[in-house]
Amino acid sequence: MRPPAGEAAPGSGATVPRPAGGEDTTVPRPFDPDRGEPGGEPEPTATGEGVPWAELLAEGETVARYWSHVLRRGPDECWWWTGGLTDTGHATFRAVSLPGRTRRGTVPAHLFGYRLAHGPVSVPRGMVVRHRCDEPPCQNPAHWLLGTRGDNNRDAASRRRLTGHALADVRGAAGRARAVQAAIAAASPEDLDQAIAAALAAGNPSGAHQDALF
Ligand SMILES: [Zn+2]
Repeated sequence: MRPPAGEAAPGSGATVPRPAGGEDTTVPRPFDPDRGEPGGEPEPTATGEGVPWAELLAEGETVARYWSHVLRRGPDECWWWTGGLTDTGHATFRAVSLPGRTRRGTVPAHLFGYRLAHGPVSVPRGMVVRHRCDEPPCQNPAHWLLGTRGDNNRDAASRRRLTGHALADVRGAAGRARAVQAAIAAASPEDLDQAIAAALAAGNPSGAHQDALF
């Protein structure tokens, strides 16, 4: 296949790789979770490689279904996911309904949302979409940034020790995400903000104590 106009010719010695410029989005192909978890909630593909993003993002029904699972709130607030969750508290979105029990076609919702906001080839190979807010199910595009897995692990390790921080939640990330979903489902619209705040605070029973959680 010829590279698009403006691309460096093969072997030209270009030092800056084009982010996913050669990604083949023309051939539909099945994709499987990178990390299947027998007996548990299937983990969607962590990086989104091999997913026909351009096709999925062009399907109005799929995009509408994505938004139907997002509680959109203020520009600075977390936009909570009301659909499926992984055991790490990340949102899962069944972007394609394929036959069988493997849930092939299930992708991390924030990878779908990030590409929806920035384009189908906006995540270079090897990069991950991180949450500034440290709330894995959050779908607010303003709360996402690209980074490496190393960035992610380093930041999480330092912030996990902060009392009251999302990463220090005694329920774990999935328990926290499920508690927020339950609060959203039970709350009336006028009580929504308070219900979410209470659900988040419930994971910090130590209250104002500043003891590090080791
Ligand atoms: Zn957020």
